Amino acid sequence: MAAKKKKKARARKSRRIIVRGAQVVTLDDNDRIEQLDIVIEEGRVAKLAARQRCVSGDQVIDAKGLVVMPGFVQIHVHMCQALFRGQADDMQLLDWLQQRVWPLEASLESTQMRASARFALSELLLGGTTSVLDMGSVHHTDVLFDEAQRFGMRYTGGKTIMDRGQAFPANLRESADEAITESCRLADKWHGAAQGRLRYAFSPRFILCCSDEVMSRCAEEARRRGALLHTHASENSEEVQLIRERTGKGNVEALHDMGFLGPTTILAHGVWLSAKERAMLRKTGTHIAHCPSANLKLASGIARIDELLAMGINVGLGADGSACNNRLDAFTEMRLAALLHKVRGGPQAIPARRALRMATIDGAKALGLADVGMIREGYKADLVVLDLNMPHTYPPAGDLISSIVYAATPANVHSVIADGRLVAQDHGLVEQDLEKILAGAKRAAAALAKKVN
Ligand SMILES: [Zn+2]
Repeated sequence: MAAKKKKKARARKSRRIIVRGAQVVTLDDNDRIEQLDIVIEEGRVAKLAARQRCVSGDQVIDAKGLVVMPGFVQIHVHMCQALFRGQADDMQLLDWLQQRVWPLEASLESTQMRASARFALSELLLGGTTSVLDMGSVHHTDVLFDEAQRFGMRYTGGKTIMDRGQAFPANLRESADEAITESCRLADKWHGAAQGRLRYAFSPRFILCCSDEVMSRCAEEARRRGALLHTHASENSEEVQLIRERTGKGNVEALHDMGFLGPTTILAHGVWLSAKERAMLRKTGTHIAHCPSANLKLASGIARIDELLAMGINVGLGADGSACNNRLDAFTEMRLAALLHKVRGGPQAIPARRALRMATIDGAKALGLADVGMIREGYKADLVVLDLNMPHTYPPAGDLISSIVYAATPANVHSVIADGRLVAQDHGLVEQDLEKILAGAKRAAAALAKKVN
């Protein structure tokens, strides 16, 4: 049975796919948009040219009249919170964590984590996201990797760490030794798995619930293994103030002194940053994950993203979690990123083209994925086929990038190819049963709500 499955998986992987006749938004250095055929072999774009001939056995996707763009790269999500949607609204960050999110996370059992992961992955893929940086909960992290592997997502993730303080349920607390030992076990198992599609990120939650020791040890272990570092920083003004009371420093300054900053580090949010801290981000090559919906919904503030970009700091986008967004939709984040900063910075603060790059190639850059985020020969075949022939994205005479950034929604996602594998087609999942996934999520969310409330 296992051998048969493997053979089937190999066949699926090795079969050539030709996406024929679409307008291709390459996002290459020349911003080329052209009607091209895309030939996909062994997980990569083998050929990008007009009128490619197909041979028998090829899987041909007729995309005439459709648009192809690189898959979205979201660099800050929490798949473990997918079941919490609608259960933690209209609160500010620290109350939201202490009263709702941490008790919910503490109650997650392995089966519920699996339901959550499957549900989140369905939403992400059907919305055109093909790569994520995910922060898990304290427990059941193997389940997240296992499902990401199954669904075809290009997944970087890690268990979160909480080893300090009393503000959260006891079963989320570990010692620094326990947390590092488990993180290293997970990194050994998953970092580089599935031909490099799965990778590990050491993920202490944020300074307020982590010891200095655990932060520094994460940085050391991540660098030793070529893994990433992922944490929340400077999301909320009270958080920043509490960190200053404890350390005498700003949040990013404290991270800098713990050895946490660098070109393999992604900080979620960066709403409250001093000029000194911005200079530290630029100097160290640290990346920022901008999560505009979450920042608005938790009333955290508006990050000065246009100013960070002007300094040369790399910024990608993330939906954060279903408990603070409440969607996992890259279109929403891209549109909001383009709109929000115009209020202070003027209409050119973040133009549509920049927002599209933040949602794709800039996110890939943050994750160190050198061959992702662009449609180009030799690059990974992570791409989204959009059908813009719908009332909210019509007529086609306007600027195509404008339609994608300001008008499109997940409803426009026709098909999705991740790592050369057709994972969604005709607005549905190819290998997974969405009805079953939703039923599983409904059961799991009801059980969880009963336990927590
Ligand atoms: Zn987050």
